[in-house]
Amino acid sequence: MECPFPPPPPLPGSLAEGVPLASRTTWRIGGRARWLATFKDVVDLLWFWTRLDPLTPRFVLGGGSNLLINDEGFGGVVLDLTSGLNRIQVEESPASVLSVQAGALTRTLAHTARRLGLGGAEFLAGIPGSIGGAVVMNAGAHGREMKDILIDAQLLDPQGRQHSLTPDALAMSYRQSRIPPGWLVLSARLRLTPEDPERIRQTMQRYNRHRLAAQPVGQPSAGSTFKNPVAAPPAWQLIEAAGLRDASIGQARVSSKHCNFFVNMGQATATDMRQLVGKVRDAVFDHSGIRLESEVEYLGRLGLEPMVRYC
Ligand SMILES: Cc1cc2nc3c(=O)[nH]c(=O)nc-3n(C[C@H](O)[C@H](O)[C@H](O)COP(=O)(O)OP(=O)(O)OC[C@H]3O[C@@H](n4cnc5c(N)ncnc54)[C@H](O)[C@@H]3O)c2cc1C
Repeated sequence: MECPFPPPPPLPGSLAEGVPLASRTTWRIGGRARWLATFKDVVDLLWFWTRLDPLTPRFVLGGGSNLLINDEGFGGVVLDLTSGLNRIQVEESPASVLSVQAGALTRTLAHTARRLGLGGAEFLAGIPGSIGGAVVMNAGAHGREMKDILIDAQLLDPQGRQHSLTPDALAMSYRQSRIPPGWLVLSARLRLTPEDPERIRQTMQRYNRHRLAAQPVGQPSAGSTFKNPVAAPPAWQLIEAAGLRDASIGQARVSSKHCNFFVNMGQATATDMRQLVGKVRDAVFDHSGIRLESEVEYLGRLGLEPMVRYC
């Protein structure tokens, strides 16, 4: 494979070449990473981050649950924080504040909080992915979102300096935040509330029953493909009204259970999925005059690109 930019510095034992990415996404789609770096701790990450040439494209991968990776793969270095930076700690005072590294899974965090008798993170139990991804996407469900429980996030800028930013400073709003390009989320401090673990468990069960009834759980997807538009019916209703329930391109299909979930029927390519997203978006616009915006991100050969462009 050609290499037009400086290779990353050698990271003993944890820098691999030509790594398949599909299995690292919930859609199970995408090519290989030119390089994939994993880290045993923050020191390891800082060493690598500060030595990485600014010209070398980099992408931070969380749980890959809101991501379509192109079929040719990523030509730079993918940084995976989920295996080494996943510690969850109770801050000594007050005891309801959790300090969570970005690679910790949201589900693990939610269940750890339950065991500790800390409520407020129940909504995260059914959202796949990592804490880093949840901060970047301001993930939410059941009327709660990440910014409601985030005290601050610790970020790394491209020069390796650390910054602590509040939800306001991160401009967190519906399924987005304004993290400067090239920055990385290292960890987050979450404010929770003491609560009976049994009550927390019951709330999680209720949320889970709702998901099982409404969503194609078990089929590869990236959750909601489009954001719900403001002051309009939800995206799934607009898609259904445009007659696209069950529409497909190749092995990519609009779920019959939830029209805003697009599922991989087995061998879908990124091209199939991207074309389906474009087809649905155009059909909804023709039918309702509403422009749906993709919630899912598209990783091109050298970085994030628009999922589909309006002509
Ligand atoms: C079945 C299913 C159900 C879902 N339900 C919901 C739901 O109810 N609510 C909801 O909000 N979402 C939902 N999602 C979408 C998804 O789970 C969330 O957006 C999630 O927060 C993404 O986290 P991730 O770690 O997988 O991020 P990824 O998909 O890996 O990455 C998403 C973006 O975050 C960036 N990123 C990740 N980690 C870092 C980091 N440490 N530093 C800097 N940037 C980083 C990536 O570079 C990328 O730009 C669902 C997805 C699935 C598959």
